Amino acid sequence: MKAAEFTEQFLAQLEARNPGQPEFLQAVRVVTSSVAQYVLDHPYLIKEKIMERITEPERVVMFRVPWVDDRGEIQINRGYRVQMNSALGPYKGGLRFHPSVNLSIMKFLAFEQTFKNCLTTLPMGGGKGGSDFYPRGKSDGEVMRFCQSFMTELQRYIGQDTDVPAGDIGVGGREIGFLFGQYKRIRDEFTGTLTGKGLNWGGSLLRPEATGYGVCYFAEEMMASRGFGFEGSTVTISGAGNVAQFAAKKARELGAKVVSLSDSDGSIYDPDGIDEEKWNYVYMLKNVRRGRIREYAEKYPTATYFKGQRPWGIKCDIALPCATQNEIEAPDAKALVENGCKCVCEGANMPTTPDAIAIIQGAGLLYSPGKASNAGGVATSGLEMTQNSIRQKWTREEVDAHLHTIMHDIHSACVKYGDEEGTGNVDYVKGANLAGFIKVAESMLDQGVV
Ligand code: GLU
Repeated sequence: MKAAEFTEQFLAQLEARNPGQPEFLQAVRVVTSSVAQYVLDHPYLIKEKIMERITEPERVVMFRVPWVDDRGEIQINRGYRVQMNSALGPYKGGLRFHPSVNLSIMKFLAFEQTFKNCLTTLPMGGGKGGSDFYPRGKSDGEVMRFCQSFMTELQRYIGQDTDVPAGDIGVGGREIGFLFGQYKRIRDEFTGTLTGKGLNWGGSLLRPEATGYGVCYFAEEMMASRGFGFEGSTVTISGAGNVAQFAAKKARELGAKVVSLSDSDGSIYDPDGIDEEKWNYVYMLKNVRRGRIREYAEKYPTATYFKGQRPWGIKCDIALPCATQNEIEAPDAKALVENGCKCVCEGANMPTTPDAIAIIQGAGLLYSPGKASNAGGVATSGLEMTQNSIRQKWTREEVDAHLHTIMHDIHSACVKYGDEEGTGNVDYVKGANLAGFIKVAESMLDQGVV
């Protein structure tokens, strides 16, 4: 059987079992395409039904989250936790609060997380959770009441050695605080069951910065192989949340000019670059005032706001998609290639559609999937877990050194498994998927049919 045929056959089965889950099927398709030949070359993996097992979550929890808004009206949201794979350690992965959240999105994220966490080399399984609750426009009191109701149910299924949630879209320091408070109150234990905690109460230095910084460390490694880097380059970034903010900060520190940010309403283009003062403004705008990126263009006349548009039409050397899934589609990829972009390094989870990946890779650009390049966030969550367990706190420098080593090692794993011999090219998609898959699969087999 050919690899492509194996992929199609497996995906047809998976789709029949999981109808109406396009994002989950998309994520599995990309991994299956990368590993199909390896599975065919190792027939025991077929006999052991490894593809069927690795794509079936160990447990899925869905629950009602009732709460009362500021007007006294009852609101009902839906909560999720997908415990995908515990072959390498306790389930680990963030919580996303966004109206788009559904089972398909939770499963795709938990599936990606399994391989991402494996790539970090730290002992963490894969999971993801969240809710269709939208924090935007809600008061602090409403967010707190929602988080308390959400945790009242979720606490039954999590624990420092079982499942350790963290943040993702819509879940930052404020939400983790409310979630942790309720967990501690119900379980009567002060443990590292959540990561992304406040620095005063068990959080790790550099955790907020880690995903964005890690993206830049990874991109530097990729670009070094072709003799360029951030120094003197123009960078477009999508998103304006935690990942985008710290990717922008580190890219600038490394000598680049960052010219864009975005949110779900539109993008800003600042040809002069987002300097330190402007970055501080964005940080306050997003994290304290919880405003929209449009306000940047009102504050800084050098910038233009493009309503309803993504930043991929802007000329750049390096593009860092840091917003959300499927935000670079085929026309965006064409625009990036035509404008001379040389490197696309993902900060978000699955921001590039398969068609767009084919265009980007086909044109010979450097391209890294999020599960490799955005793994610095969860890796630093792993470092937070270690610090909580040994009841110590590492310095910023110590955490940063670990983060550097981990991103370097992930890059090396991608090169080892994705090197297209003789061409000088590295297929980072294949490299990341294969490196993650082999270790998770072999660990599952070691542990029997469970
Ligand atoms: N949500 C982040 C991710 O996609 C971080 C997860 C974590 O720290 O557990 O990897």
